[in-house]
Amino acid sequence: MSLPADYHMHTPLCRHAVGEPVELAAQAVKLGLTEIGFSDHNPMSRDDFDDWRMKDAELGAYVEKVQQARQAFPQLSIKLALEVDYLPGQESWINELARRYPWDYFIGSVHYVSESWALDSPHQLAEWRRRDPDEVWETYFERLALAAESKLFDIIGHTDLCKKFCFYPKRDPKPIFRRFLEAARRSGVAIELNTAGLRKDCREIYPSATILQIAGELGVPITFGSDAHAPGEVGANFSDAVEHARRAGYTQCCRFSRRRRETVAL
Ligand SMILES: [Zn+2]
Ligand SMILES: [Zn+2]
Repeated sequence: MSLPADYHMHTPLCRHAVGEPVELAAQAVKLGLTEIGFSDHNPMSRDDFDDWRMKDAELGAYVEKVQQARQAFPQLSIKLALEVDYLPGQESWINELARRYPWDYFIGSVHYVSESWALDSPHQLAEWRRRDPDEVWETYFERLALAAESKLFDIIGHTDLCKKFCFYPKRDPKPIFRRFLEAARRSGVAIELNTAGLRKDCREIYPSATILQIAGELGVPITFGSDAHAPGEVGANFSDAVEHARRAGYTQCCRFSRRRRETVAL
């Protein structure tokens, strides 16, 4: 079975990953992948917003490194992308980034559920203990629905990232899952199966079987991503992810070129 494209990979420019694009591409070739995509964390409009992403002035260097990987591995299809933080109010900045380079896709991710709290940050774990998980999950999925409706993104990243540290809601989350997934379907945006969840406390692919089942029923398209922060994580657990997709009824996934979607058999 050939593995799907790995569309979620980081580079050292985000300050918490190791392995240059050429090294990640070499690993992809070794694994027999035919397509990958670099999707490092986008610069923010203010470089001091946080400390886990490239600075605005480094965006050109990022594009250059991806170009070098393309030249080094012409047999591998390498997509140029970003993982873009969605925060309400950032829309014009995201549009500006979109105009700068010939991106293949944007992954829209919600890490911030307030201006200053990234819910997946291990450095801000204490914040979870001060909060009500039901409220956090509701805010998170509301932002995810806004991200889907914004038309700024091709793919929504790790759609239940809020489970990372195992702070689960008490109320049934299916209505908030459905509100987001219906927004995704209406907007024609894909969701990714992200295997990084298997390497975190939650020990589960993002998103859960429950979410993926609803997504499958609605016909929301999917992509795959390892969220690699090191060469050894490229394509990690992809056969598990394909199985996860099949169990939810998926027989197809998608790929992107210059922000146009194409369907491929799984
Ligand atoms: Zn992310
Ligand atoms: Zn990521």
